[in-house]
Amino acid sequence: MSTQLDLSHFGSPYWLDLPRPTFATLDRNLNAEAVVIGSGIAGMKIARCLAREGVDAVILEAGRACDGASSRNQGSINQGPNMSYPDCIRRHSRDIARELWQMGLENHRLLKSQIDEYHIDCDYQVDGFTSLARRDEADWHDRVEAYRRESDLLREDGFDVTFLNEQQAEQVGGNSIYAGGMRYESDAQFHSGKYAIGLVQGVTRLPHVQLFETARVHEIESTGTRTVVKTENHTIETERVFLSTNALVPQFIPGLASALRAERGQVFVTEPLAERPCQGSFGTSLAWWREIIERDGRFRLLFGGGREREEPDSLFPQFTSDGGPNPRLEAEGFRPSLAHQRRLDEQFQLLFPHLADVRITHRWGGLQSFTADDVPQAGLLDTERNIYGIAGFCGRGNCHSDVCAEHIVSKALGVESNVSNRFGFLIETMMQAPRKSADWKPWQSEQSL
Ligand SMILES: Cc1cc2nc3c(=O)[nH]c(=O)nc-3n(C[C@H](O)[C@H](O)[C@H](O)COP(=O)(O)OP(=O)(O)OC[C@H]3O[C@@H](n4cnc5c(N)ncnc54)[C@H](O)[C@@H]3O)c2cc1C
Repeated sequence: MSTQLDLSHFGSPYWLDLPRPTFATLDRNLNAEAVVIGSGIAGMKIARCLAREGVDAVILEAGRACDGASSRNQGSINQGPNMSYPDCIRRHSRDIARELWQMGLENHRLLKSQIDEYHIDCDYQVDGFTSLARRDEADWHDRVEAYRRESDLLREDGFDVTFLNEQQAEQVGGNSIYAGGMRYESDAQFHSGKYAIGLVQGVTRLPHVQLFETARVHEIESTGTRTVVKTENHTIETERVFLSTNALVPQFIPGLASALRAERGQVFVTEPLAERPCQGSFGTSLAWWREIIERDGRFRLLFGGGREREEPDSLFPQFTSDGGPNPRLEAEGFRPSLAHQRRLDEQFQLLFPHLADVRITHRWGGLQSFTADDVPQAGLLDTERNIYGIAGFCGRGNCHSDVCAEHIVSKALGVESNVSNRFGFLIETMMQAPRKSADWKPWQSEQSL
């Protein structure tokens, strides 16, 4: 791997390095029962639920379908949210933790049922998610013990997890740096681009659904009885809006800016390798990775992470000091940065020294949003304009997006759904927007951005 890092040819994710379908552009004003803004996994799942209820839905996408985080991620389907089981028990209760992890399994089931229903050929595989403790961390003993305790609790509650001792961790991680760990056996992986594109194709074939690309929404206004959604040249009058623009949700709901922190994650992918580099998805401090299985039987390694939480080159305030939208959010949020990619390279050389000389074919960035209490915001975001939405998946879109979409659509339309009957109470109590516990304290590096 070269020490002279030149990023000028990078930026496009491996997951989108394939032929992509195009969709219509908006050429007239419209009326629709519902408008969905954003065509990532959240928007498409919302549109799918609306179509099931026979609601006319127009999806407006600023760029091309699947341009966002949904095709820029690790492609792991996790059962657990972005917090540990003991943490969740401490903050809430054992019953709530059990329900939240059950809800992750339900989300996985719904996601898999779309793959089957739309025949999405997206390399879905169930190879688990493994978390590993590293000996170069000061508190690695404590971490190993924490994994032991967490896997005991999860198993007591009926979940399929395995504690890894030192020898097992070294073996599955392929490096003597690992001192122990824990694996969720039923977590899965897929090709994020093929999944997201397959989902868009499946949903847009449904009656009542239309998707328009290059239709950036600039304004959402109330007329008193209806809501008007405005793009540069056209307007759509509607009864209700569903906002699924991920880290950009506060652009239309400024009150959520302190509860949806826009953070850039970064990733690279190696050239095809002769040997399988790992099996399944992995996470450790400062790094996460997975293998990608190529159709010709070779493997690539996808590698991401490599930063502390507060690294200034990865945080993007929503607004500039004069209150306008921060232009860097989109201009830089999806690009790889030199500082962050260098940190990735350092971690990669430490954790995969035998692959130090392989060629990196793709490097990219992806903007996502995080809440301070580690679960999304889902619900009615603005009463006057009748805007519902989901955001703040905290790096777990594949863990929360289906159940949240099911619930907010059933709530908006006043219809029953199995998900709402089973998990509606949990979503309402934990993920209600706005809520105080989701708010971040101003972060130290904010001023310097
Ligand atoms: C590096 C990285 C790794 C991750 N790894 C995982 C993982 O392994 N597992 C997991 O579950 N999650 C992971 N995530 C998180 C996951 O990718 C996201 O939570 C999920 O994709 C969010 O989906 P979304 O539909 O809300 O947003 P997006 O996919 O970002 O879609 C939002 C869409 O809205 C559009 N848009 C924005 N503004 C407007 C506007 N004004 N008008 C019209 N359209 C607009 C955008 O163009 C975009 O297409 C990761 C994220 C990143 C960045």
